[in-house]
Amino acid sequence: MTIADDINPISPMGLTLAAYQEHCTAVGIGRGKAKEAYKAILCDGQMESLPAKIEMPAVVTRQEEPGDEGITIKFVQRLPNPEHRLADRGIDFDDIESVIIPMIGRSKRKTHTLCVSSQVGCALGCDFCETAQMGLIRSLTAAEIVAQWWAAKFIEGVHIDNIVFMGMGEPMDNLDEVLLAIECLTDHNGANIPMASITISTVGRVDGLERIKELVQVRGWKRLGLALSLNASNDEVRSKLMPINKKWNMQALQDILLELREVRGGRKIMIEYVLIPGVNDADEHAIELAAWMQPFSKDPTREKGKGHGGLLNIIPYNPRRDSPWPAPTEEQTDQFVTRLMKLGLFVNRRRTKGRDSMAACGQLGTAEIRKRKFVPMTSNNQGLDAK
Ligand code: SF4
Repeated sequence: MTIADDINPISPMGLTLAAYQEHCTAVGIGRGKAKEAYKAILCDGQMESLPAKIEMPAVVTRQEEPGDEGITIKFVQRLPNPEHRLADRGIDFDDIESVIIPMIGRSKRKTHTLCVSSQVGCALGCDFCETAQMGLIRSLTAAEIVAQWWAAKFIEGVHIDNIVFMGMGEPMDNLDEVLLAIECLTDHNGANIPMASITISTVGRVDGLERIKELVQVRGWKRLGLALSLNASNDEVRSKLMPINKKWNMQALQDILLELREVRGGRKIMIEYVLIPGVNDADEHAIELAAWMQPFSKDPTREKGKGHGGLLNIIPYNPRRDSPWPAPTEEQTDQFVTRLMKLGLFVNRRRTKGRDSMAACGQLGTAEIRKRKFVPMTSNNQGLDAK
């Protein structure tokens, strides 16, 4: 009797090899056979190698936008909605968006970063963000997150060097599944993405960052990348832009980031600042921002004169649909960046990629899914006063 006759295929998507082997041995399949099948799916891109078999969500939309460093690709995968919440409105699927971003580094080597979604929509309501306009539909499973990498690599045919959790959703609102996905993505028998090439970006859930603080002390997790989406220089502006700031303010964020820096051996934390004209781009904002960043520039865990503990990324705002604010001009961005540099900060000015296809930072969330009704809470962020 063959395996196919006897056993229902088991999907390895969202599982480490060890977990997959456990599933297989429980139904009488040997570890060796399980490993072979696991590698066929995750290393070779096969969809079926019994006992492993995957169902890949269809790519329903795909947009390309050429730029100086290559072609940015946004693709949308359509997932069945398990609860069929909106079936009465003729929608019984969830669309999730991912973006492949080309980059040419200092060494002139071209790499590709995949920006993945961790949720369908988002509950956190940041004012500048396209995804926020959708509300939260649901959180993704680890398998659905890993499927975005699989589609990028084996459907789009792009080798993925880095993964950033900066797509739809707040990763800390779905941390269990995000961490499971990372375990799978870093498994050297499968996707084999180095831990240092994966970054979780948060708008500042301090409870989630506390969990990361414990996790990075565990072997294998130390090099996990972290980014904070700050976007303001004082609590008043930040609370208006990002309701989560009413729950965890800028002082609380600074405290936890300094603790994290200590346990991570001085590894840099990226601080993201979306520059919005008339909102957070004044001279006084630059001065406040430099003061907030100041503790990160003195890093006692690094050798004298070498490096710094925080790196500031200035991202020109990409207007969402119906945005009350325009994008900043080149001059406005230059002026703000120059001011910060004069104040002694290390600043990286992020070039905008994918703006025309609504694939740039803060722009994920299709018009199709925005028609849906708002579902405000996930189970693990109930009680968050900020919303
Ligand atoms: S910026 Fe991030 S956390 Fe805020 S609404 Fe958008 S997806 Fe959610």
